[in-house]
Amino acid sequence: MLRRTRADQVKEVYSRLFERYPDAQTIADASKEELEQILYPLGLKWRTPAFQLVARETKEKYGGRVPTTREELRTLPGIGEYVAGAVLSIAYGKKEWIVDSNIVRLFRRYFGLETSREGRRDKHVIEIAKIYASGRNPRKANLAILDFAALVCTPRNPKHNECPLRKDCQYFLSELHNVSIESDKQHSVPRLRFYI
Ligand code: SF4
Repeated sequence: MLRRTRADQVKEVYSRLFERYPDAQTIADASKEELEQILYPLGLKWRTPAFQLVARETKEKYGGRVPTTREELRTLPGIGEYVAGAVLSIAYGKKEWIVDSNIVRLFRRYFGLETSREGRRDKHVIEIAKIYASGRNPRKANLAILDFAALVCTPRNPKHNECPLRKDCQYFLSELHNVSIESDKQHSVPRLRFYI
């Protein structure tokens, strides 16, 4: 539901949907028209069939139980690494990694990494996300980094002054010392460098 849609838009629709259809089984069996009616405020017409397809496959393949492994989740239509990691860590509390474009930016800046245009798939980025999610409370940790990367380490005008990481942040230190930063953008060929 959050795809290309802000959380505040989703909140009310989410409550209405899950009051009416509390699980994958009931969504799979719901009438398309009724589902469309509930999801209508979010726009995006493809959402209803996509929603029902994943619910039906969950019912058929897993008896209506949302899978508990990344491999199983990835067999469901529309479930990529990000959604799989979010379900496992946030819903099930498992030590599973997530990476979105905001997290890539945070890692890139903080560690002074080079990343490709598809930084979410870069092995070294995923390795860091795995280590990050391996602590005692992966649910809290992943929710925290999602919010932090989106709200503090913003694409434009990152809030360095409010940031508790700035002491060790390569990007901040490079700015502080007024040393050349090639760019804060992703490149198809990795060539982003930070100098301190
Ligand atoms: S110091 Fe600035 S660039 Fe570095 S992590 Fe914090 S907000 Fe992002």
